[in-house]
Amino acid sequence: MSNKKYVYLFEEGRADMKNLLGGKGANLAEMTNIGLPVPPGMIITTEACKEFYLGGRQFPPGMEEQVREKMRVLEEKTGRRFGDPANPLLVSVRSGAPVSMPGMMDTVLNLGLNDQTVEGLGRAAGRRFAFDCYRRFLNMFGDVVLGIEHARFERILEKYKERRGVNLDQELPVEDLEQVAAEYKALIERETGRPFPQDPVEQLFMAIYAVFSSWNNDRAIVYRRINKIPDDLGTAVNIQVMVFGNLGDDCGTGVAFTRDPATGARQLYGEYLINAQGEDVVAGIRTPRPISDLEVEMPAVYQQFVSICEQLEKHYRNMQDIEFTIERGKLYILQTRTGKRTAQAAVKIAVDMVHEGLISKEEAIMRVEPAQLDQLLHRRIDPRSRVEVIARGLPASPGAASGKVVFDADEAEILGNQGEKVILVRTETTPDDIHGIVASQGVLTSRGGMTSHAAVVARGMGKPCVCGCEAIRIDYEAGEFRVNDLVIKKGDVISIDGSTGQVILGEVPLIDPELSPEFLELLQWADEIRTLGVRANADTPEDAARARAFGAEGIGLTRTEHMFMAPDRLPIVQEMILATSTRERQAALDKLLPMQQGDFYGILKAMEGLPVTIRLLDPPLHEFLPNAEELAVEITRLRLTGGNDEELQKKEELLKKVRVLAEFNPMLGHRGCRLGITFPEVYAMQARAIFQATAQLVKEGLRVFPEVEIPLVGDVKELALLRQLVNEVAEQVRKETGVNFEYSVGTMIEIPRAALLADEIAREADFFSFGTNDLTQTTFGFSRDDAEGKFLHEYVEKKILPENPFIVLDQAGVGKLMKICVDLGRQTKPDLVIGICGEHGGEPSSIEFCHRIGLNYVSCSPFRVPIARLAAAQARIKNG
Ligand code: PEP
Ligand code: MG
Repeated sequence: MSNKKYVYLFEEGRADMKNLLGGKGANLAEMTNIGLPVPPGMIITTEACKEFYLGGRQFPPGMEEQVREKMRVLEEKTGRRFGDPANPLLVSVRSGAPVSMPGMMDTVLNLGLNDQTVEGLGRAAGRRFAFDCYRRFLNMFGDVVLGIEHARFERILEKYKERRGVNLDQELPVEDLEQVAAEYKALIERETGRPFPQDPVEQLFMAIYAVFSSWNNDRAIVYRRINKIPDDLGTAVNIQVMVFGNLGDDCGTGVAFTRDPATGARQLYGEYLINAQGEDVVAGIRTPRPISDLEVEMPAVYQQFVSICEQLEKHYRNMQDIEFTIERGKLYILQTRTGKRTAQAAVKIAVDMVHEGLISKEEAIMRVEPAQLDQLLHRRIDPRSRVEVIARGLPASPGAASGKVVFDADEAEILGNQGEKVILVRTETTPDDIHGIVASQGVLTSRGGMTSHAAVVARGMGKPCVCGCEAIRIDYEAGEFRVNDLVIKKGDVISIDGSTGQVILGEVPLIDPELSPEFLELLQWADEIRTLGVRANADTPEDAARARAFGAEGIGLTRTEHMFMAPDRLPIVQEMILATSTRERQAALDKLLPMQQGDFYGILKAMEGLPVTIRLLDPPLHEFLPNAEELAVEITRLRLTGGNDEELQKKEELLKKVRVLAEFNPMLGHRGCRLGITFPEVYAMQARAIFQATAQLVKEGLRVFPEVEIPLVGDVKELALLRQLVNEVAEQVRKETGVNFEYSVGTMIEIPRAALLADEIAREADFFSFGTNDLTQTTFGFSRDDAEGKFLHEYVEKKILPENPFIVLDQAGVGKLMKICVDLGRQTKPDLVIGICGEHGGEPSSIEFCHRIGLNYVSCSPFRVPIARLAAAQARIKNG
């Protein structure tokens, strides 16, 4: 027989044995050892559960004997015997995994009752009480262990309540409870084909078997998948002597947090019920009372509870969530665990605990989940409101908004400018829709993933966005969308919650974000600790200013193409693209120059004293042109209606050009620096706009540091050629203005070839910035516009990939290229400044990776800057 220890008494365990004893068991053990009033019990280890599965659902050899042996210890401690009709020992059986797992088996209380012991319990504690316990036990055992639907037990109980004309279980007389118990036993026998097991030992092992099995029930498996919990941890089983909160009015049961889990305020927060058992509190039949009432009702118990809460907080140095029961005026603690809390509370509690001397600043920083901070930086739905969720999409850009449904960007702009609140609803958005996004409260799309155009743009602007919401069927012609049978028409009000992906019918009450003093203090500590810089991606002076207010130390990416989309500019941009001669093109560029200069002036000014990376034009040109299909439809319409000849001709010519410019794979086509190579005058105009703005600001006495960035470089010669062009323009502007100014020229690393030849490319670059959106696309060969909607979710579901690599950096592949690139680049230039400006620059695990490979900064949307500051500090604490 194996000598392995499978069963621990509470006094044999410790808090740091969570992996072996489960979270609940380890804490019960810890509380027992620090002398708290915990009813005695034992824990069967997760190791036993693992072996149970390895052995084909068989208890490991030796385990059962150890359980029996420990039961004898519990008998000695309590002076009762398991199965003794005169003085029976009753226990609870509960699951307890190393991490919280709500999907698993529920509790079985009062185990050990049978037709004889119920009489013994009756003599000791009252017959009505005993039969109430018995019927509860039969119900829980039948439901949880034998798999008979809870509702079938409920129906029997309901029948008796109806007959008596009463509402509450407590109002049933003992005769009825006896009858209920008899009917429950009959139900069990009918359903399982054998009588209810009267032997308490058999009951116990059946319950243990059920706990182990519940590790692999559907709910638990799904929960683990969603929360990325490994499947092989196994669960422990906690067997604990029963104490009763339902023996009378000097008894009760409740739950309390040591601080307010919503606000973080330092005050007990919880509720309790007099004369009740655990499940009554959750069942919601009786309304529990606030914990403060206990001070009046049972002052001594309350005082003891308060001091235990303080003791537990000091011991665990964290906010605790505590379950307790009062049996005949005596307090018992049944569970403690780290309390779940909102982001606001997490921040306040962490900072307060530093001031209280409980934890260090580093610990406070590690206590707050960076991604959770999103909740604090955007408007959100008032958690007290009731909402009607009609569909769910991807939570693409956090925050919530309400507005009238609009299907067209132009219309959104018109209504938005009139002060109407609108939500732009599209199958997907393109750069053509920018003005509509600007004017709306939020964006809802039926297609596209977390890095689709709508998602990236909305995040950048800090607007809520739900995308890839496939449940909605949009009919532009009819001006409506449908979710199953529900029809939402243009002008109807909906709300979206970009933090959860919910689409809600009607308007919802929103509450404003708050940067509490504690939040600012925590971020200040993060800044003292981190070594990784944090910049923002910003395309407008307003975004730049906001980013700065959130603590950005510069701009890591200004996408100039967004400036080309403004309605007053698009026609000129189209002129530029459609020009048939260099002269024509230059004429259009001359019109754009002062506009771009104004853009750069504003952004550089907002970032005075800090570096600003400005990327020259990147997307394929046809993104700025009308859609070919729509044009063709219009031409047909003009033909059919005998429309104006001149207009028809113009449109036909336009269509021809649009078709010439169309590409099969625009993302791999004529874009990025390839545009600069073929149309150098475009890049020259942009460089001139940057330098003229710079010269103007320097003249005004400001310190500005533009960094001109060439996108999508794959070969050093591309960069050399364009850098020379930029340098020449800079020289010209210096001469023309007589102003000397600083600037640098660098490149984005977005193509694997660039990463592999980084030593060569570094010769021509003052800086590198990883464009990991494109680098992920080009490394995997996954189209970033198609992959998420089409197949990526299955890759994640089937565990081919651990995460969506467009959201969480693929450290194994893309990360390896980045590491090679950093090493090669710094071989050539040891001080080469290297950053990241893809979406990953705002994602905590990716930020940690960037810290580890020695990047100088991460750059993310303005609203993610605080998250990045905290994540960068955590990366430093974890990795040094
Ligand atoms: C990138 O590719 O990571 C990047 C920042 O550029 P864009 O998303 O504009 O292509
Ligand atoms: Mg890119």
